[in-house]
Amino acid sequence: MQPKLRWGLMGASDIAETRMLPALRRCGHRVTAVLSASTDRARDYAARNDIPLAFADMTAFSSCEEIDAVYVSSVNDLHLAQVRAAAEAGKHVLCEKPVATTLADAGAIIACCRTGGVVLAVNHHLPAAGTHRAIHELVARGAIGQPLAVGVQHATLLPERLRGWRLSGVAGAGAVFDLSCHDASVINPLLGTRAIETTAITATQGPWAARSEDVSMAVIRYEGDVLAQLHDSFTSPYTPTVFEVHGDAGSIRAVDVMTPEPLGTVMLTDQSGTQEIDVEDRRHTYDITLEAFSGAVVGDGRPVVTGEDAYHALAISLSILESAATRQRVAVRSWDTQ
Ligand code: NDP
Repeated sequence: MQPKLRWGLMGASDIAETRMLPALRRCGHRVTAVLSASTDRARDYAARNDIPLAFADMTAFSSCEEIDAVYVSSVNDLHLAQVRAAAEAGKHVLCEKPVATTLADAGAIIACCRTGGVVLAVNHHLPAAGTHRAIHELVARGAIGQPLAVGVQHATLLPERLRGWRLSGVAGAGAVFDLSCHDASVINPLLGTRAIETTAITATQGPWAARSEDVSMAVIRYEGDVLAQLHDSFTSPYTPTVFEVHGDAGSIRAVDVMTPEPLGTVMLTDQSGTQEIDVEDRRHTYDITLEAFSGAVVGDGRPVVTGEDAYHALAISLSILESAATRQRVAVRSWDTQ
């Protein structure tokens, strides 16, 4: 039996209000507190969302005894300070992606949760999706032979209400931190090998005065010369999302699967033709993430995405940005190249 936890929200954010709060309640958890930098925002957000306690002071929030676990969904460069405060107070942590904006901060997040003896999970929802787990199983059982290439089209139109800090040029803004790290969160474990180097171009295309890239195309070389190409964009209103894996004995093409919603189809083509793969688990990705998190809190299993997994996904985003900025191929940093 998974424990039902008392959750505190660090960040009076859109994602907490529109997605995580409904998921927490759907899964039987209680949301007891919210933290904002502004007293008025905290109070309004709490009232609007039926949350009993509102805080504008991080220390008071972190020491609140009505909280077992926190969901960190502030802007990306605040994640480290908030995770550290929570972990030092013994609260388990579900942090939004990207886990941080630098590998040093990501490493510090992992270290402080380890020192605090708390569970750290990161809300990259794609690895939880039934579709992506079905793709992972196909590749693992050799259905496409040796993987040679991965293709991701993660191009959508950024909703109007999210056209704030993401386009502003602040640390953690832009399509690469927003979307490419999600792609990497599924490609890294799918291939199970190390990302070696990246070459990328970013641009601004949208009908807005963006100070961060709103589109990126990148190619990443993994060990064994497996190549992955990523098209991540805020600017494409009608483009279906696509995830493909091509091997020497077959190909997988999944459509509409780069989403937290339990949607999309997975097709396998091999020497016997093309068939649709049955996706057994059609639960919402957030529910699956929360179930694994609760299990990990009582020592039953691991989070869907650990801090280390998120670190490696962040390393891909950083290599894309560095390659685009320097117009060079860039080595992907990992634990042992730090
Ligand atoms: P928001 O812009 O909604 O919120 C981020 C912060 O901005 C809040 O914590 C809040 O600060 C402040 N803020 C929000 N609205 C206002 C406002 N009207 N006036 C003043 N301040 C405001 O961010 P998102 O929900 O879009 O993203 C939050 C985090 O979640 C990011 O890390 C993002 O990358 C991640 N995310 C992940 C997704 C996923 O697919 N897993 C999808 C979307 C987001 P304060 O708390 O101090 O009030």
